[in-house]
Amino acid sequence: MLLSVVVPMYNEEHNVAPLLARLVPVLRKAVGEDGYEIVLVNDGSSDGTLASMREAMESYAHVVVIDLSRNFGHQLAATAGIELAQGEAVTLMDGDLQDPPELIAEFLARYRDGYDVVYAVRRTRKGESFFKLLTARLFYRIIKRLTKVSIPVDTGDFRLMSRRVVEALRRSPERHRFLRGMVSWVGYRQIGVEYDRDERLSGVTKYPFTKMMRFAIDGITSFSDVPLRFVSYFGFFTSAAAIVYALVVVGFKLFSLHPPGYTRGWASTIVAVLFLGGVQLIGIGIVGEYIGRIYDEVKGRPLYLIRSVDRSSEARLEP
Ligand code: UDP
Ligand code: MG
Repeated sequence: MLLSVVVPMYNEEHNVAPLLARLVPVLRKAVGEDGYEIVLVNDGSSDGTLASMREAMESYAHVVVIDLSRNFGHQLAATAGIELAQGEAVTLMDGDLQDPPELIAEFLARYRDGYDVVYAVRRTRKGESFFKLLTARLFYRIIKRLTKVSIPVDTGDFRLMSRRVVEALRRSPERHRFLRGMVSWVGYRQIGVEYDRDERLSGVTKYPFTKMMRFAIDGITSFSDVPLRFVSYFGFFTSAAAIVYALVVVGFKLFSLHPPGYTRGWASTIVAVLFLGGVQLIGIGIVGEYIGRIYDEVKGRPLYLIRSVDRSSEARLEP
């Protein structure tokens, strides 16, 4: 089997059928009748997504339905699908038809040229709020500056990965997964193809602001220790400034001069206390963020739990 297409889905009941109707012809044309499998991962949906997936399994060949024990989040649902995929190459895509299936043909062409990773770069994004576009733009540029791994900008998880990249991901057991960063970290030959991102077909985004923030913090802390080092640099800087200020104060005292703000010392004291208090709390917060991650990792729990795996009958003939 040449290609597995992995689609994590959370409350996408009305998108399953339209997705398959568009995806299956593309795959048939690109890799032939039996060259593919479609791995649908139900990430603990509370609507009829699983039923829609089972229906799709009845109407199409080579559909695999993975039902997770609960909602584990997009990145872990994708991980489950990637780990169970059996294809020689694996494509990851969203289930809301924001990622056009037709692009997979282009991915395959690049893959056949010898690339290990072909990722889709968003030239434009339809149907997103100004706020989402702005924060996304900022995020990709910040993370690029903060990390040594070169993570391409404006690139989501829509991509094709070769078997050896998939194996590398399988061997990376970290739980706060920032897949697009991890795939960049793997290396080998990678290339981007541009596309225009469509609007979501139906339903609402599963990435509200709070989840987006969480995702951004996971991305940065997974791939950069600059925030930690920034805390210590800032500490050195404020200590140095404090020493200079202390010398000035002592100098004024020695020569019996009045330092600036001598009579109204209260304001400067309060400002200093509040400022340093704030800086320290931010510092502790940043350290805490990393410690929280260490805590999560040492617990060593499984990344996800699977309730069931089912395949369309044609696919069941295969091992
Ligand atoms: N998703 C998921 N689990 C979650 C959240 C999202 O499997 O907890 C899936 C979702 O169904 C979709 C994909 O991840 O297929 C991307 O999510 P969404 O389209 O909501 O994100 P956006 O495109 O708005 O950034
Ligand atoms: Mg979407």
